[in-house]
Amino acid sequence: MPHLSIDRQAAERVTAVLAQLTEHLGNKVSTNPSVCEAHSHGEALELARLPAGVVFAETTDDVSTVLALCHSAYVPVVAFGAGTSVEGHVTPPEHAVSIDLSRMTAVLQVNAADMDCRVQAGLTRQELNVRLRDTGLFFPVDPGGEATLGGMCATRASGTAAVHYGTMKENVLGLTVVMANGEVIKTGGRVRKSSTGYDLTSLFVGSEGTLGIITEVQLRLHGIPEQLSAAICQFENLEDAVRTAVEVIQAGVPIARVELMDDVQMAASIRYSGLEELRPITTLFFEFSGAPASVREQVDVTEMLARENNGLGFAWADTPDERTRLWKARHNAFWAVKALYPGARIVTTDCIVPISRLADLIVGVKADIQESGLEAAILGHVGDGNFHTLIITEDSAAGHAKAMDLDRRIVARALELDGSCSGEHGVGVGKLEFLAQEHGEPSLRVMRTLKVALDPRNILNPGKLLPEGLAYIG
Ligand SMILES: Cc1cc2nc3c(=O)[nH]c(=O)nc-3n(C[C@H](O)[C@H](O)[C@H](O)COP(=O)(O)OP(=O)(O)OC[C@H]3O[C@@H](n4cnc5c(N)ncnc54)[C@H](O)[C@@H]3O)c2cc1C
Repeated sequence: MPHLSIDRQAAERVTAVLAQLTEHLGNKVSTNPSVCEAHSHGEALELARLPAGVVFAETTDDVSTVLALCHSAYVPVVAFGAGTSVEGHVTPPEHAVSIDLSRMTAVLQVNAADMDCRVQAGLTRQELNVRLRDTGLFFPVDPGGEATLGGMCATRASGTAAVHYGTMKENVLGLTVVMANGEVIKTGGRVRKSSTGYDLTSLFVGSEGTLGIITEVQLRLHGIPEQLSAAICQFENLEDAVRTAVEVIQAGVPIARVELMDDVQMAASIRYSGLEELRPITTLFFEFSGAPASVREQVDVTEMLARENNGLGFAWADTPDERTRLWKARHNAFWAVKALYPGARIVTTDCIVPISRLADLIVGVKADIQESGLEAAILGHVGDGNFHTLIITEDSAAGHAKAMDLDRRIVARALELDGSCSGEHGVGVGKLEFLAQEHGEPSLRVMRTLKVALDPRNILNPGKLLPEGLAYIG
């Protein structure tokens, strides 16, 4: 059968490329089954597929060597940071090479006076902040997973601090990128603005490894605030909590973080993170930062708005340890739900809407959950209009299909309210079906044109981000 012979040719090509790579890069290349298994999936375990081999790159030149050889042999390549992405982003296609960036962890420059730094793409954001400890500066973008900065660029990640500091889009100044054919380019630079040429940095931020592989990142840094205060406020009613968060933003309070967890999420987090002093009802987590007078003012306005919306009073986390405990509980929310439902499959939504539509959406979603008969927790970065529904379902095809029905209903609601199917997790394969509806066919054709121009042989993470597979035309 011709299909089989095409498959065999692809298998032979990748075998030959791995042999060549081993000649060039020695023991940075592995075909060990357990190494391949670890690179067969991200957090969406059900989408696993083994790569033919894994290359542990240590330099931009290593990445360039891999891409040049794979390009000439039409072998697909998937960049792998920490594998914390949740939409099947790093699942390789058949006969592919996975290129792991996690050994590229150097901090290349810290320019404290200009508040920027340059790092290799495999460094994690937690480790960057450890290495910045003595500078009075920090990097604020904080997705829940222990992600690499290259992976965070590639998914245009954000987190709890985006409401104040922005997402990766606002915090990346420039990149070093290896193109599909192995050529190395630099984008952007150290300046805060430039009006020269197409904005290639923004093109690669959010491109999910489909246009090039990022090896270095120039980042904006921020001063550690003079004062930080954290508090929680509980609500009997979900809508009251959402309305409070929305009104805080609309009042122009420069809040550092405002996060919501509903009753189901709180029940899980109380058990997992030992928050026994709290009740399993909807809760807002706040953080205020700045000069003491500014913090006082922010707190006064926020407390007043919470009171007007039937908040049950503020409980303060005053010491660094208490604050860490609170935010750790927030960051561990996903694992808290997983622990409460062992063996279950969790489907995560990531909708975002303009802030004025958020209460409508969350109340509608809560009703959808009830109607579906499924259990689901709601949590999110409500200051941005972004929240996640963790849909808990049995680990079977039927269970997954039921969860996906609910997922589609939630996305449809968000799109109707001028929103997006993903505020921060990205497309991968999980959100492909919604892209045409969200962007429209003409915009997708422009995206496809860019993809074909930069990766004519379709070797860079094929099958991700763009709804239709591209023909090999190189
Ligand atoms: C518990 C939990 C909580 C999370 N919370 C958040 C959150 O609050 N906000 C958020 O935004 N995300 C969140 N995520 C998702 C995830 O952490 C992010 O998507 C993160 O940016 C992925 O980084 P990574 O290094 O793990 O990338 P990977 O998963 O390894 O890769 C992700 C994508 O980027 C590509 N890629 C990786 N490195 C490079 C590179 N150097 N050059 C080009 N392409 C590359 C890959 O091919 C893939 O397409 C969460 C995940 C978990 C498990």
